[in-house]
Amino acid sequence: MGSGQVTSSVPSGPSDFQGKRVTVAGLGVSGVPAAKVLHARGAVVTVVNDGDDARAREQAAELEALGITVRLGDGETLPEGTELIVTAPGWKPDKPLFLAAEKAGVPVWGDVELAWRLRGPDAAPWLAVTGTNGKTTTVQMLASILKAAGLRTAAVGNIGVSLLDAVLGEERYDVLAVELSSYQLHWAPSLRAHSAVVLNLAPDHLDWHGSMEAYARDKGRIYEGNKVACVYNVADKATEDLVREADVEEGCRAVGFTLGTPGPSQLGVVDGILVDRAFVENRHENAQELAEVSDVDPPAPHNIANALAAAALARAFGVPASAVRDGLRAFRPDAHRIAHVADIDGVAYVDDSKATNTHAAEASLASYEPIVWIAGGLAKGATFDELVARSAKRLRGVVLIGADRALIRDALARHAPEVPVVDLDRTDTGAMLQAVTEAKRLAQPGDTVLLAPACASMDMFTNYNQRGDVFAAAVRELGA
Ligand code: ADP
Repeated sequence: MGSGQVTSSVPSGPSDFQGKRVTVAGLGVSGVPAAKVLHARGAVVTVVNDGDDARAREQAAELEALGITVRLGDGETLPEGTELIVTAPGWKPDKPLFLAAEKAGVPVWGDVELAWRLRGPDAAPWLAVTGTNGKTTTVQMLASILKAAGLRTAAVGNIGVSLLDAVLGEERYDVLAVELSSYQLHWAPSLRAHSAVVLNLAPDHLDWHGSMEAYARDKGRIYEGNKVACVYNVADKATEDLVREADVEEGCRAVGFTLGTPGPSQLGVVDGILVDRAFVENRHENAQELAEVSDVDPPAPHNIANALAAAALARAFGVPASAVRDGLRAFRPDAHRIAHVADIDGVAYVDDSKATNTHAAEASLASYEPIVWIAGGLAKGATFDELVARSAKRLRGVVLIGADRALIRDALARHAPEVPVVDLDRTDTGAMLQAVTEAKRLAQPGDTVLLAPACASMDMFTNYNQRGDVFAAAVRELGA
């Protein structure tokens, strides 16, 4: 972990936009507000967009009425004279537009970079969270803890309030709990958080980033310039490596979280108690009790890890231990994240439809035993051998659904040949009722039927929310 000054050659404040030729890449959730804000600050804005559908035309008309130029159907050609691009975070870095920008020496900012640059001089500091899984949960836990401490705050970024609204709106905040995706971090070169965490790192979105190294590098940006603490996961060495590589402010500390007994400068768990050995006087001798494992909902291992990460950031901000406990007690997870749906004939039915990749599903499967596992959907290029090999001993049975279920079936045949598998050869939404019926048949009292698909949902459902809702409806139908 080095410390040093980071400089940047791109304009650094709102006044700099006057007369600047700014290209906004992509209409949509971040593009439309970005274009409006930049226009209001005197920039000469051109919005470019790949698509040219009815929705895009509607948005274009709204912006054109303000005097903003919009080019539909071509998101690739760099408009003449562009001095800055502000891009939607999802746009891939290897697009011709960005290659042309690089050649012409034009800087590219994402929505996060824009918000960071536009925040006022008395802006609230950011406590930032990224990771392959657990971001939303952790940011919400963090906001709950900060609120319990009496601070004015909000969970922002990838969720809830948009970052631009948070930094430019009327509401005054003492501190922000900011969720950041790897895409957003890629396009946020000058972001400097108060403190930050990378919760975990597993292969995801590699088609976008190009490689695991590039993905990790983008996640690691969250630590750049941290002031008080870089929080890492002791069980995931890659996160600690990123802390070591980061250039931070003088005096910034590396703080680990672990499900085991914490060492000095760590938060961890001792006899069912979450304890802090980082933000205490004399951390070599002392530990501070924060909360009980049972204060965390649900008290599954990966979620305790999320709670410890949230607690570490809050403690880095100076929040008292009692607020950590009160904030965790007040927190309720969003829907479809290990949500207990019902108990029927001694069998628990749990909806973790949000487990859309293998890393998330593995955390979910590690939380129960024995399990009847409902899995499958769109694999997004994932392989399932490790997940199945590590979870095999917990499986009572498996019901497979979705387009890429053969990949999971083959992994089961290799690593868990004795586990009964029901392979449903249909991808219509109604298949879920059949899947739950089959799962009920396989389950015994004391088991958990767990929907943790390890796959995206769009082959059978609109999104993971609908998948979870259909699962819960099927469970209720069977229990009625
Ligand atoms: P994200 O915002 O990163 O997608 P969420 O908090 O929405 O994360 O959780 C998504 C899913 O990831 C959950 O349903 C759960 O299955 C899994 N998950 C949550 N926290 C963790 C963690 N710390 N490690 C592994 N998997 C996790």
